[in-house]
Amino acid sequence: MAITAASVWSKCLEFIKDNISDQAFATWFEPIKAIKLDEPILTIQVPSKFFYEWLEEHYIKLLKVSLQKELGPDAKLVYSIVMDQNLSKADPYTVKIPSSNKEKLKPQELNAPMNIESSKVKNPFVIPGLQKLKIDSQLNINFNFDNFIEGETNRLARSAGKAIAKRPGGTSFNPLFIYGGVGLGKTHLAHAIGLEVKEKHPEKTVLYVDMQKFIQQYAEASRSNNRNDFIHFYQMIDVLIIDDVQFLSGKKGTQDVFFHIFNDLHQRGHQLVLTSDKPPVDIQDMEQRLISRFKWGLSADLQIPEYDLRRSILVHKLEKDGLDIPEEVVDYIAKNVKSNIRELEGALNSLMAQSLLNKKEITLPLAQKALANLVKHHRKEISIDYIQKVVCEYFKIPLEKVQSKTRKRDIVQARQLAMFFAKQYTNASLASIGSQIGKRDHATVLHACKTVKNLSETDKIFKGYVEDLRRKIGAE
Ligand code: ADP
Ligand code: MG
Repeated sequence: MAITAASVWSKCLEFIKDNISDQAFATWFEPIKAIKLDEPILTIQVPSKFFYEWLEEHYIKLLKVSLQKELGPDAKLVYSIVMDQNLSKADPYTVKIPSSNKEKLKPQELNAPMNIESSKVKNPFVIPGLQKLKIDSQLNINFNFDNFIEGETNRLARSAGKAIAKRPGGTSFNPLFIYGGVGLGKTHLAHAIGLEVKEKHPEKTVLYVDMQKFIQQYAEASRSNNRNDFIHFYQMIDVLIIDDVQFLSGKKGTQDVFFHIFNDLHQRGHQLVLTSDKPPVDIQDMEQRLISRFKWGLSADLQIPEYDLRRSILVHKLEKDGLDIPEEVVDYIAKNVKSNIRELEGALNSLMAQSLLNKKEITLPLAQKALANLVKHHRKEISIDYIQKVVCEYFKIPLEKVQSKTRKRDIVQARQLAMFFAKQYTNASLASIGSQIGKRDHATVLHACKTVKNLSETDKIFKGYVEDLRRKIGAE
């Protein structure tokens, strides 16, 4: 019986089938067609370059052994890569696999025993004249650059994002890896980049997806045996933005597929933007080869916002919503809600809600009350010692004076203010405050608190002291 491409290949398949799972066989071998035999060279047709890479990486040994069994030690395999379905009219092109490793596409990526000649590699997606699929970018128009306020703590990430939006894939920031804690603006920035790319480069296909969705999509695709469709879909994206890549941690299968999609896009100069709640090195259970790729471009962090940025964000938001609240309230929020921007916005919203609900004007006391829960958390850091220090510095008097028995008026005043703020900003009891500030009893502290309250309501200058001190004590 004459041997044909089909007969050789079916013998190979028998062998391969015995050596891998049914699932893998169905996914990676059933779609292959043997199209030509020119002994000892067998040409097989695979649906995509990705497919070819996957075979090279995972099944090359198996392919080699099975092929040599049929065609002898000089057996060679040639891949012909075509797009299936709608792209089938395009010219198929062939990648030859020489048995020598001399010509490698990218040494760190393709080190399988058989390799492709780099000059022959083209990607099916860039074949001119092909209609690209219209893809919904999943971008939120509210998260744009106009709304993304610049500050010290986000400048690098923001300007890298801007640069990318100008020339996606054309900068050395590929991938752009944005990391930072919760509520610091990663998602917002990711959308802003996508939106600006679309505005500046309407022809580019942009996609925003969060990693959890990507993982879920891949699981579904695997279940329904549509891995190839999944992969093809992602290979069509010019600017792929994946939010929260830390969720890839521990997901071996998805890491694998993501690695190949990443490589494919990166090799073709497509832009990747990734966000994570931690820097690449700190992501647990992530393959090393992925971590190293995350570091190829630029890693930029979003840090905890500084006071000026917090304040600008509040002012911007108030302006946008056409709201007007007293400066001192804006200051108060900006000073006290420090941990992240989501909390900052939450504080403002909850204050607005309370004022609306109770039909009360927004004042500092209302803000203090409304935000008590949020702010208390930060108050713990303020100690009685710290308050005394701030007060003494403010009035330019030595600490020992406040601690002494002296009843000189200016010293008494400073002491009373220190007690008042200690009561407000610490959880210490009256007795404990008294013992730490000049060895007084609890009644003295209580009296001090009342006096400060009264005076700040009747005496403008004194009120000024209270406000200044509050700001200084609240500041970082
Ligand atoms: P993350 O993804 O890092 O957890 P988000 O991007 O969801 O954070 O940001 C939390 C909130 O803070 C969002 O409402 C976002 O619009 C807002 N935000 C973050 N950074 C800024 C900024 N620089 N200017 C204005 N708003 C910001
Ligand atoms: Mg986010």
